[in-house]
This record gives sequence, structure tokens and C-alpha cells, in this order.
Amino acid sequence: MNKYLDDFMKTFPYEGLTYDDVTLVTQYADFLPDDTSLETNLTSRTRMKIPFMSAAMDTVTEAPMAIAMALAGGIGCIHKNLEEDDQAKEVAKVKNYLNGLIASPVCFHADDDISFLRAEKRRMGLKFNGFPVLDSEDRLVGMITSSDMRFAPMEAKKLRDVMQPAPITAKPGTSLKKAYDLMRAAKVGKLPLVDRNGRVVGLYSFTDVQRLVENQNPTYNCDDKFRLRVSASVSGGKGDLTRMEKLADAGVDVVVVDSAHGHSKGIMDMTKYIVKHFPKVDVIAGNIATGEAAVALAKSGAHAVKVGIGPGSICTTRVVCGVGIPQLTAVYNAAKALRGSGVAVIADGGIKLSGDVPKALAAGADSVMLGSVLAGTEESPGEKIYQNGRQYVVYRGMGSMAALKNGKGSRARYFQDNEDEDNLVPQGIEGMVPYSGHVKSIMTQFCGGLRASLGYCGAKSIDELHEKGKFYRVTAAGLREARPHDITITKEAPNYRA
Ligand code: 5GP
Repeated sequence: MNKYLDDFMKTFPYEGLTYDDVTLVTQYADFLPDDTSLETNLTSRTRMKIPFMSAAMDTVTEAPMAIAMALAGGIGCIHKNLEEDDQAKEVAKVKNYLNGLIASPVCFHADDDISFLRAEKRRMGLKFNGFPVLDSEDRLVGMITSSDMRFAPMEAKKLRDVMQPAPITAKPGTSLKKAYDLMRAAKVGKLPLVDRNGRVVGLYSFTDVQRLVENQNPTYNCDDKFRLRVSASVSGGKGDLTRMEKLADAGVDVVVVDSAHGHSKGIMDMTKYIVKHFPKVDVIAGNIATGEAAVALAKSGAHAVKVGIGPGSICTTRVVCGVGIPQLTAVYNAAKALRGSGVAVIADGGIKLSGDVPKALAAGADSVMLGSVLAGTEESPGEKIYQNGRQYVVYRGMGSMAALKNGKGSRARYFQDNEDEDNLVPQGIEGMVPYSGHVKSIMTQFCGGLRASLGYCGAKSIDELHEKGKFYRVTAAGLREARPHDITITKEAPNYRA
């Protein structure tokens, strides 16, 4: 409970504020930005390392984006403008990305010359050692390690002369944790998985396995089997029941029941259905902009709600329909109504620069969803184009004409499932954003900006920012002062665009 925030917001009873309308107030800090934690609730049941989720849009999130986001500690939401099977395949790609298991390991034969192995390693550019050795019928008969190669006697010619015979093996399907335990106990660096016929069907390498199990790289957002977490979006009503089943079979962790108007029967019914029939899957429902809607979705069983009606960079809902609440007020309304419930709040849309993020969090959000910020990255599925010698990436609203024509998911999101093409009414636009490199560097800038902000606000964590974040209202002159002014920018900064 943040009394300052409540008093501040009370002074704008029927006024909607957004990020540029406020600035955060500095407060005493006895720590450095590096000492802050960016951990947060993704939902009431799941934590994540950084408060960032990539948008469920067909020019933002497919598997490469979701992998990059989970590696950075956040999560990606695979869009629903894909056929059901294709969306499930994207989910599976993320789940299978980091299992430590090498599915098709490089193998040699016992009769191969030692010099052949050395030449092959050079040819393939292999940096690692540790190869299964097979007999003439491709059954495992030994392992070659780096020591076997280094200490090979001068007179040895064939791999069978230097390999370790009868290596320790495990059955197909051995879990990462079981492999870790076996390898530690036997002190082996490689563990081949061997089927009943003696064929190698996979290989664990201790360096990868150890990194995952001991979580030596603390940034990954992983499930309890050390696989990356992934989210995917579905529509409300009854249209996506088989889609939901396929996503669950593929191992989806979090489903977003996604609509332009989440405070509606179809979204609430689907939320209840998923909570009941897929109890292991976390459910995020949205989008909404009021406290009443937040409570209704929480009552339907949602583990998190997604807030944002009309703040998106590609969105025209506010001008086409005249509807929506400026984002800071909408986030505050939802978060206030959900206080004490544990249900998480995701601020979706309208984030332009990293400084908007701590404002969303201080207003009560647990995390933010990013569209335009990530659309220009290498990992986004948007088409990369050149204009006037600069590279851009196509970015379009899920309610844009092109997206509505292209996918059932978009039509369902905007309640236009059964319309003829001539009757489609878009609520978004199509455009492009500058190419911006890799997700990792964007996340470095956004996390760095957020850590610095926590330092300024005297809050060591996002939870603490919820308790003590303070806003001042900004005038038009204050907003002008806040941006670079009275200068011609000559070099692009990695975290600011005019
Ligand atoms: P951005 O981060 O680009 O400001 O906003 C992304 C968010 O805008 C998405 O996560 C989604 O909630 C919303 N959105 C995506 N496409 C459309 C659209 O065509 N119309 C509207 N009204 N909202 C959209």
C-alpha cells in the first residue's frame, strides 16, 4: 500500500494520466543501482528475473524472440495469427532450446584414424572434445575424450587404440537432473543416451548440464526442468479450445487470453475453462483498463491481468472508437483494485523509452509488455527492409487491416471473426521501426535504465518501488525540459531516439 501514490492519484479523480504526464521523485538510497533486484511476479504463481514480456503480435514474437526474452530473464508471448499447429511448434522450439541434450552428437568409428578425427574437427570447426565411438554397425563401443587425444601413444593409429571402452551410458529420455547426478557420481564429462540396440540417440555434456542445473547463469527464465519458459496467446469464447490443447501439449507455461476488450464474457469464460482444465498453465487475461475489470478477471481465476486499452504505438482504438484510459491511470486502477490478491498486473503498450518502465511499475504494474521497443530487433519476425540507406523492420498492429486480413487471431481479438474483408474496421496501423540489433542489447539498456531508476527512487526492488514510488505531475514546460533540448543530436544513443 502506497499512501503517497493514492493521495497523488486522488487529485486527478476524472483525469487520465500517462507516462509523460509524471516524473518519479528522487529518494534517499544507501545502496548502488547494481545492488537492486529486478525480480518480479509474472503471475501470482510464477516469478521472473526481469519485468519484461514481448508482445503477442505477428511482427514481434515467434520462437526466436521468445528464446531471446527468456534467456534475458523475461518471457515472450507467441502470437495467435498462426495456425494452431504452427503456434504449438513455435512453443515447442522454445521449450526444446535449452535442455542440455545434444540430439545428434558428432560420432566417429572405432576404425577411423586418429588423424581423421583431428582433420574432421578442424574441418567442422569443432571446439569441443568428447565423441562417441561406434562399431561398424553404429553401436556404441567407446568414448574419446580430450585426454585420450592428448596422451595418445605415438604408435597409436586408430581410435579403437585410444578410446575409453564400455563408457557409462543412460537410457533415452533421461532427464537433465538425472544426467547431472549420474555424471557427477561417475565424474564423466559426457553421457551418451543409448537405445536398446546400442545406438546413440543423444549426448549430455557436463558443462551445459551443470550450467543449467546449478543455474550458473542466473539470467535465464527457466521452468523446474530447466527449460526456457514461454507464453502464447489464445482467443476468448469457444473458438480456441483445440489450440489451447495443442499449446499445452507443446509445454506452454503461460497462456494469454487476449482481446481488445478483456472485460467481456468470452474472455472470462475462456479464462475459467483454462484454469479448470489446464491447472498447470498460468493464465493471463486482458486487456482491460479499470479496477472493476481487473477484479472480474481475477474472480474468473486469472493469475495476472494485462492492462492497456489504446496506449500502443500502432493502436488507433482511442481515435477510431473514442475509448480507452491513459495508461498510467489504467495501470493504477487495476493494481489498486487487486491489492492483496496476489494477482499480477502487466502494463501492455505505450512504453517508448526505458524511463516509462519504472513509472509503470511505480503505478502498480509488476511487469511491462513491449511491442515497438522490440519490433526492430534481429529476433522479431517482421520483414527487414531498407529505405534511404537505413534498415527498418515492418511493425503493424494486430488490429491493422493487414493483420485482420491475415489471421484469425487478429479478427478474434477485435471481435470481427465473421466479417467479409470489405467490412473489416481496423483499430491499428501498419508501419516500420528502425532496425535496432539484438534483443540482448535492448534488454541491457532497459534493465540498466530500470536499475538506475530504482537507485534514484531509493527502492532496492520492484516490490519496494510499489511501496514508496512518488510521482510529480509534469507540465508541458517540464516535458520539454525532460527531453534533450536546444541541441542538434549528432550521435544516436543506444537508449534514446528523438
Ligand atoms: P507498443 O509496445 O508498440 O506501444 O504496444 C504494443 C501493444 O499494443 C500490444 O501488446 C497490444 O496490446 C496492443 N496492440 C497491438 N496491436 C494493436 C492494434 O492494432 N490496435 C490496438 N488498439 N492495440 C494493439
